Amino acid sequence: FDNMHFSLSSGSEMWQVGLPLTTKYGEIVGYVVWEPYRPGLAFLQSITPVLVVVLFALVVVVAIFIGMLYRRAMANREQENRIRYLASHDSLTGLLNRASFEARLDAVLADAGDKPRQVAILYLDLDRFKPINDTLGHPAGDFVIREVGARIGALLPSGSSLCRVGGDEFNVLIPYEDVEAIEALCTAIVKQVGEPIDIEGQNVFVGISIGVALSPQHGTERTELTRKADVALYSAKASGRGCFSIFGQHMDALVRERAEIERDLRQALSDRSQFQVLYQPKYFAATGKVGSVEALVRWQHPTRGLISPIYFVPIAEECGLIRELGHLVLTEACQAAAAWPIDTVAVNVSAVQLRDPGFAMQVMAILAATGLAPTKLELEVTETAWMDSTDHCSTNIRALRAAGIHIALDDFGTGFSTFGRLHETEVDHIKIDKMFVDGLGKDRGDEAIVQAIVELARAKGLKTTAEGVETREQNDFLTRIGCDELQGFLFAQPMSRDDLGELLSGPPRSAGRLSIA
Ligand code: C2E
Ligand code: CA
Ligand code: CA
Repeated sequence: FDNMHFSLSSGSEMWQVGLPLTTKYGEIVGYVVWEPYRPGLAFLQSITPVLVVVLFALVVVVAIFIGMLYRRAMANREQENRIRYLASHDSLTGLLNRASFEARLDAVLADAGDKPRQVAILYLDLDRFKPINDTLGHPAGDFVIREVGARIGALLPSGSSLCRVGGDEFNVLIPYEDVEAIEALCTAIVKQVGEPIDIEGQNVFVGISIGVALSPQHGTERTELTRKADVALYSAKASGRGCFSIFGQHMDALVRERAEIERDLRQALSDRSQFQVLYQPKYFAATGKVGSVEALVRWQHPTRGLISPIYFVPIAEECGLIRELGHLVLTEACQAAAAWPIDTVAVNVSAVQLRDPGFAMQVMAILAATGLAPTKLELEVTETAWMDSTDHCSTNIRALRAAGIHIALDDFGTGFSTFGRLHETEVDHIKIDKMFVDGLGKDRGDEAIVQAIVELARAKGLKTTAEGVETREQNDFLTRIGCDELQGFLFAQPMSRDDLGELLSGPPRSAGRLSIA
């Protein structure tokens, strides 16, 4: 009976209970009003704090859960974006990769409208990149790739796409109005990429060659355009690198011709009769006697005539035939030299041969088969092969030298950084490149370079040969500065085995006086 009282009304609040008080005539005079005990309310009151806490906890849990869901969704989206980015970009440079570039090119070519869109496709390839990777290491190589990508990107007009196809190759897609603009752009790229790149204080130089195909002129389909840009690149490389070249129909013929030569070369190597090895003598500068000879291969093609090794040796290297070709030349040269009264026979070997783990064994087998003493064989290795840091290369060279075979560094001075590495090189002999010999007497400062090379070599106990000696003046200068051997058209052209045999049995050329060969 909480709050019981008398009231004239039956209780103002709904939870109050009113008991009417009546007279004996049944008239209501008022009410006894009270608040009855309500167990529900009491219970509710007792649990309210707990309920509040539980409710609050529930709200917090739900909020946390929603937050987690949100965060997970965001993380998923981020990851999705990242995956999409990685799938479409090159991880080293951040440029588009080949797949996304192709998709973009397809889209641009498909979006032709009424009038076909003018689009240029550039195929770019770095020159002299491999030696950088080999001598300065892969991080430096990566740096060069990124730097070159950035330099190209900075020159492109808006609306272009730049992609790294892989290795040291890039592709560019540019909408254009007139071809002159594309030519000017290519010239600018060649120039910019040719500027020195600073790697930890050291200036490094690379070059770039560019092939261009234009749409709709050369095609309106992606694969055709890319192929033609690649063909144009091949032509740019063939015409001396560090330049660009726009696709032309004649280039297609060039590529076809190359494929034919490759096929013919394969066939020629199986019967061997089309190859001839010529020998060019090298003369001691001091005595005028033939000290050694260099073997130079020739290919007498049945329909194309005589083909120069400058042309077919690189093809043999690319299509894996150099091992067979090298074997042929080595065998023939060792056989010929076994009977000749000379100190050494020199054979040119390519970098591809030196990288073959079985090369040293192959050479030893040929020596055994032909009976030539190892000390009578010299292998001429170019600087680029020399700088190849692959293990097989140096293992081969060490094994060959240990067997007594001489190693000569060919075309010395044309590569880079070999001067600095001469102290660690395992060579017996250096051949001063014809380029320097040509420069003698031309006020280019080549006298100083050649003299420095000869003195440096002598200090290291290495022999020197000057190649491509064509004039009396060159002969005199080289003899005076103490170059050991001279080789060139002034003395003798490369000649057949029989002719050389005859020359060797004849009287020697006396020092200082030239016999006309
Ligand atoms: P190389 O080793 O630098 O050979 C010297 C080249 O200069 C030869 O050209 C030779 O005939 C030429 N030569 C020699 N003296 C003179 C001269 O006084 N004036 C001029 N203008 N040229 C001269 P060839 O025989 O055409 O060989 C070209 C290159 O092909 C060689 O350059 C060599 O790198 C490569 N080669 C030749 N035979 C072989 C071979 O059996 N195997 C490999 N891997 N490469 C070879
Ligand atoms: Ca040579
Ligand atoms: Ca040479």
